Amino acid sequence: MSIRNDTTQAGMQAARQALLNQRADLALEILSLRERLSQAAQGMPEATSGGSASAALGAEEDDCVSRLQHAQAELEAVLAALQRQDDGCWGECTLCGEAIAAARLQAMPSAALCLACQQDIERRGQRPA
Ligand SMILES: [Zn+2]
Repeated sequence: MSIRNDTTQAGMQAARQALLNQRADLALEILSLRERLSQAAQGMPEATSGGSASAALGAEEDDCVSRLQHAQAELEAVLAALQRQDDGCWGECTLCGEAIAAARLQAMPSAALCLACQQDIERRGQRPA
């Protein structure tokens, strides 16, 4: 166990609750996006508003797909963060092992990287795996 102090522990409790809420929200969002996509695949019976149906349909599908990919990536990050909490290494950068700033963790409990590593990766144009 590497609990540093009371603040860290309290922060971790709050973060865990936030992560669990995020997980539930994302799971719902993914479900509803998948539903919309499968409806679109079946000819989208309720797409009756607007004239050029096929163009609107394509844009709508693209939007759904990108939101779905985003939500799935976010869900993976949330699940990984919950796993790190179970493992007792939450709050440590998965690259360099340094403590992630408390403010960063508060804003984004699923953060896997410290700010320096995150910026380093963004500079190289890669996504954190
Ligand atoms: Zn780091």
